[in-house]
Amino acid sequence: MTYVVTENCIKCKYMDCVEVCPVDCFYVGGNMLVIHPDECIDCGVCEPECPAEAILPDSDDRATEWVELNRTYSAQWPNISRKGEPPPDAKEWDGKPNKAPLFDASPGEG
Ligand code: SF4
Ligand code: SF4
Repeated sequence: MTYVVTENCIKCKYMDCVEVCPVDCFYVGGNMLVIHPDECIDCGVCEPECPAEAILPDSDDRATEWVELNRTYSAQWPNISRKGEPPPDAKEWDGKPNKAPLFDASPGEG
């Protein structure tokens, strides 16, 4: 099992999650973060820290379609363990439906 970052992280990217992860298994892209599934130790501490409620266990049906994306991009993007500045319009995007097409595959800054 692993935890997975899902759709509502897109364009929110608050990064509260990275500060609490004991094994630093978050990776940063252009407008969202992902979790490396082989590094995550399933501790669950990040899940309640996410203001956007974007982190779910992979056993949750809502996480299923995001599992592969987390695996793929955690192998390509830089690691991030310190919280940076969230986007200025993060609040406006929080909870917006259908953000998946806005996904930015480019690497972010770790
Ligand atoms: S706290 Fe939530 S919204 Fe922010 S970067 Fe982490 S997963 Fe994304
Ligand atoms: S469940 Fe634990 S190990 Fe996995 S990403 Fe969250 S804080 Fe890190």
